[in-house]
Amino acid sequence: MIVYGSKATLLKSEFISEPCPNCNTNNSLQMSVYQRYAHIFWIPFFPIGKIGVSACSNCRQVLKDKNMPASLKLNYENLKSQTQIPIWNFAGLGVVAVITLSVMISDNQTKKKVNNLVLAPKPGDVLHIKEKDTSYTLYKLTKVTKDSVYLVTCKYVSDQEDGLNDLAAKGFDTVENALSRAEFVGMNTNKKILDIDRK
Ligand SMILES: [Zn+2]
Repeated sequence: MIVYGSKATLLKSEFISEPCPNCNTNNSLQMSVYQRYAHIFWIPFFPIGKIGVSACSNCRQVLKDKNMPASLKLNYENLKSQTQIPIWNFAGLGVVAVITLSVMISDNQTKKKVNNLVLAPKPGDVLHIKEKDTSYTLYKLTKVTKDSVYLVTCKYVSDQEDGLNDLAAKGFDTVENALSRAEFVGMNTNKKILDIDRK
């Protein structure tokens, strides 16, 4: 369940000299500018717009900016022009940007590591393999020669990449498969190797 909605925060409020359009009292109107913002799980995500509210201390009439007479609206626009969107209105967007960036950096580091390790494979390396879009498994290197790489495949597949960490404990097949070193590097070029664990 995602809880989302909008909230408003007070930016600026002041008494104006304009008479109240309802009771005609002078100096009784307080004009306030609010900033509306969208929130998800109560974390402000992005600003939506500003709203104005006038309140009369004499007759208690409250008007939103869209219902204000022209003279009050002018006061509201004037006060609004003195306000700025608070930076914390963007907090959620900022968090998303930071997470996205760190995932990109981490993915990039994994790619670099894999690129290096496939050029110098070692027995015991466990490869995270993407067979198809919904089929992931592990290969374990058993022997490495000048020309070839020997490996055993995991007995199980997972439909998600996240499931791979649990597969290692379930054991590998005993039948060895041989690949040329070129085929092995080709697997990485074809983006089949997602990660390599080396102890
Ligand atoms: Zn009034």
